Amino acid sequence: MPHVFRVALDTPLRRLFDYLPPTSAGAAGAPAPGARVRVPFGRQRLVGMVVAAAERSDVPPERLKPILEVLDRQPVLDAAALELIVWAAAYYHHPLGEVFAGAVPKALRLGASATASEERWLATDAGAAAFQAGEPSRAPRQRALLGFLVQSGGASTAELNERSGTWREAARALLAREWIASSELALVSHAGPTIVRVPGPALLSEQSMAVDSVAASLAQFGAFVLHGITGSGKTEVYLRLIERVLAAGRRALVLVPEIGLTPQLLTRFRARFDAPMAVLHSALTDQERLGAWRDAFSGHARIVLGTRSAVFAPLPDLGLIVVDEEHDASLKQHEGGFRYSARDLALVRARHAQVPVVLGSATPSLETLHNVATGRYTLLRLQRRPAQAQPPVLKLVDLRATAVQSGISTPAVLAIERHLAEAGQVLVFLNRRGYAPTLLCTACGWIAPCRECDARLTVHLAASRLRCHHCGADSPLPPRCPQCGFTVKSVGQGTERIEQTLGSLFPQASIARLDRDTVRRRGDMEDVMRRMASGEAHILVGTQMVTKGHDFPNVTLVVVLNADQGLFSTDFRAPERLAQTIVQVAGRAGRGSKAGEVLIQTEFPEHPLLTNLLAAGYDGFARAALAERAQARWPPFSRLAALRDSARSADAALVFLAEARKLARPPRGVRLLGPVPAAMAKRAGRYHAQLLVESADRGHLHGFLDEWLPHVEELKSARAVRWSLDVDPIELF
Ligand SMILES: [Zn+2]
Ligand SMILES: [Zn+2]
Repeated sequence: MPHVFRVALDTPLRRLFDYLPPTSAGAAGAPAPGARVRVPFGRQRLVGMVVAAAERSDVPPERLKPILEVLDRQPVLDAAALELIVWAAAYYHHPLGEVFAGAVPKALRLGASATASEERWLATDAGAAAFQAGEPSRAPRQRALLGFLVQSGGASTAELNERSGTWREAARALLAREWIASSELALVSHAGPTIVRVPGPALLSEQSMAVDSVAASLAQFGAFVLHGITGSGKTEVYLRLIERVLAAGRRALVLVPEIGLTPQLLTRFRARFDAPMAVLHSALTDQERLGAWRDAFSGHARIVLGTRSAVFAPLPDLGLIVVDEEHDASLKQHEGGFRYSARDLALVRARHAQVPVVLGSATPSLETLHNVATGRYTLLRLQRRPAQAQPPVLKLVDLRATAVQSGISTPAVLAIERHLAEAGQVLVFLNRRGYAPTLLCTACGWIAPCRECDARLTVHLAASRLRCHHCGADSPLPPRCPQCGFTVKSVGQGTERIEQTLGSLFPQASIARLDRDTVRRRGDMEDVMRRMASGEAHILVGTQMVTKGHDFPNVTLVVVLNADQGLFSTDFRAPERLAQTIVQVAGRAGRGSKAGEVLIQTEFPEHPLLTNLLAAGYDGFARAALAERAQARWPPFSRLAALRDSARSADAALVFLAEARKLARPPRGVRLLGPVPAAMAKRAGRYHAQLLVESADRGHLHGFLDEWLPHVEELKSARAVRWSLDVDPIELF
């Protein structure tokens, strides 16, 4: 037996903890890497994960304590999952124990069994003999149950529940006579043949080529970018690839950026495959998550579909990873402790597992396109839509040259009128929920501020509330100015107000709204989708939510109310996000047989981003944007890490980062930028600041971080702030 076990514990300390082997030769014996153990930690007892065994420890022997209990005979993380967690902790410079904690369900961290089991019922030999002898003769229910168990050779609790709701009482009586017995059996995976319920539609030649390219490399690592315009049938390509993987007896992992995208994808998967699936996302209860995780771990689930953290799901015989909407910022965890990119980790996982990974998007991220340009990824294009669907025509509306009523220009009003008259549906996009972003006093100039943030409060008229979209502060809508008592006025537009304006402009039209205020409960989203699909709703007003993957085949007009928010941001990624949003929302138009029209309202119609996008499409935009990034040395032409913190005072936030900077001895080619206060420095009562570390060389950057962070951690000022490191940040503020 090794002398020492290295254990990852859920603590903010960036190291492993050494323990001696368990003293009592318990049934489980020595723990394997990936097994959970209970260990003493200070005055607590914690469940940790064994990462490695070792011959010796740097800790003096008298200070080492033995493992109290080994929880798993079999590791709960297979070698691949463990390898990914260890890799992620090193790459993101995050404590391994916390990475582990984020990667497995809470119930498992608290010691729940990793395998799903079910209760099975059997007739005993005595029971079989009794049944032959006609027993029990005076209890027909007991006799029926005993007979069933004799003839079926045993049944699970679930099966018995299905036969009768009242079998338990009979079972108790039979148990007492030892005619039947029950036991807990681990659920075994049914790796039976998967059935394709309905064959998919005939593929377009582009789709076939994409399927064939990936399928040719199913037994090895390969990164493929499925760049398909909206409506070109990316999902069908995923389905065909999954079909091949399942047919080979292997399993598929599918990652999506948002919970909202799981139901429709799941529906398509279920319609196609008769195979067990597991779904992992943040809205599950602890018990649901444990169940889904167990289904993945045991191999019962042949397809695992999930959001970010599903990238860590254990899956025996993984054959394929799909990352849908790979450009979406939600694939990056950018809050809390452990910040990681599920897309990037999917690449690492695929490489470890020697399987292909498919990154799908209509608007691939510039990072991904750069990897295509340098030959690391293979590009697969889908440029056609099935059937007669035509790509939409984009036009700019110059807001300076037209009358505008509550944010809607005259050309937009006329277009909506025309499309409604031709029985088309209209999508109106505005990336701002609520009624109005500002409440203003026209007499004294007071503007309703959030007390906790450097932000204005948003008016929610129907709810009669003022809300902060940054910290969640919520107060009644004041009828008068709290400063001078004069009347107050809502300024600007949010989706709630646009819905109202459209209602008065088009009283005959039925209007649906999709934003976080209208989608609060399970089923709300489906409800809006149903109203659009059935044609009951004529106009849909929505935020970013409408741009994500949903099909509205009868939408013929898309109006982007305000494209200007992203044009002049200080964040170097803002143009990319704006272009992606415009292309994604425009892609909602004309997905059926009717050609679509897209109007983009702007006060800057000559802005190069917009003119470029209209003239040369997303490809043209991406080429120009990448050239700009190269010139400015921004990613993907350099690597970034952001050391961020927040504190109760603006000074404290800057002091810690300044001291951290003073400690730094960056090698040549590694630059430190800052510290600077965040663009919105005060949020939820805390002041935020950041210090950027930049290098053209990934190795240099990480070497520097490895050397620097242990010193940063020891700073006294570190205790006065909350700090975190964000490697490859995608939002700079
Ligand atoms: Zn006032
Ligand atoms: Zn606030």
